[in-house]
Amino acid sequence: MADQTLSPLQHELRETLAQGGCPLCHLAARDEQRFLDSLTYERILDEILLQDLRFPEVQAALVRAGGLCLPHLRTALGASGPAQSHTALLAAQREAWTVLMAELDGFIRKNDYRFQHEPMGDERDAWLRVLDTLTGLSPR
Ligand SMILES: [Zn+2]
Repeated sequence: MADQTLSPLQHELRETLAQGGCPLCHLAARDEQRFLDSLTYERILDEILLQDLRFPEVQAALVRAGGLCLPHLRTALGASGPAQSHTALLAAQREAWTVLMAELDGFIRKNDYRFQHEPMGDERDAWLRVLDTLTGLSPR
């Protein structure tokens, strides 16, 4: 999908996907007043996120972002939208959480005294991202 055909809300969603972490949490933190308007919230969920998940680049961006947090995943799965979007959301979420669990395993392993000589990589903050995933993004 060419950039010039994206709506302002689609642009916002794609910008938040590039930040990493749950895009809905980022939107909520960035513009709390507007986001709390349930019509805007439902529109982002139903018309933007679930519709845009038909594009492989949006699915990949959601995986790179780490997927949705559990509270927003539950909301998204309860929202209306094409069945294939829910399937795409679950597939992206499963892939994102598989990556996160592998990084958490690496973090735990490298905190074992036998492997402490190995330098930390992306897994250094995996435990924080797991907490964000379970509860929603915390402001940092
Ligand atoms: Zn969230």
